Amino acid sequence: MPNRARFPPLAGRRAGARRMICVMSGHDERLEIVQGDITRLAVDAIVNAANTALLPGGGVCGAIHAAAGPGLAEECAALGGCPTGGARLTGGHRLPARWVVHAVGPVWRGGDQGEDDELASCYRRAIDLAFEAGARSIAFPAISTGIFGFPIERATRIALAEARAGLVRHPSLARIVLCCFSAGDLAVYERLARIPPTGAA
Ligand code: ADP
Repeated sequence: MPNRARFPPLAGRRAGARRMICVMSGHDERLEIVQGDITRLAVDAIVNAANTALLPGGGVCGAIHAAAGPGLAEECAALGGCPTGGARLTGGHRLPARWVVHAVGPVWRGGDQGEDDELASCYRRAIDLAFEAGARSIAFPAISTGIFGFPIERATRIALAEARAGLVRHPSLARIVLCCFSAGDLAVYERLARIPPTGAA
């Protein structure tokens, strides 16, 4: 049974994070699961659950654009969109985060249209893009699980697997934060995170 330690939120990243759970032992302690508002996290890069047009929308995308200010939409407009499964980098503008990675998850179409691969791809690309830019801490929302309708449990398994794989790919990454908005989502993340990853001791 893996140990799970709860840490008080640290200064600088406590704002907006109502709870912080670090999943330890058998897993990588650089992986954190928190509940809160991602726009307030003091990490190097936050990930936006973006649409292919990279336009300001609702949900977490709307919250990120509102917090970043109009300069973010202007920068996004110049990028010319992004395909599903891809990611694009911008500055953080008025956010505490230096960068925003706009990751385009799939719209749920029943689960047999390649959605799993598309979701995994956007996590993977977001991690690599942020890392290559210089980010050493990256926070993700639960991409595709809101307006895009991806089932939360299935999406969470992919998020956990890709976060762990990213930490293995990039040993100098300090942390990946999976930021849940609702208590219900947090409960799912906590439960699934306790399951040792395949191949873990
Ligand atoms: P998508 O279109 O990819 O489904 P949504 O923004 O609708 O994106 O939802 C993705 C997830 O982001 C949902 O779990 C939603 O509850 C969550 N969310 C919404 N606002 C925030 C926020 N400010 N911080 C973190 N997560 C958020």
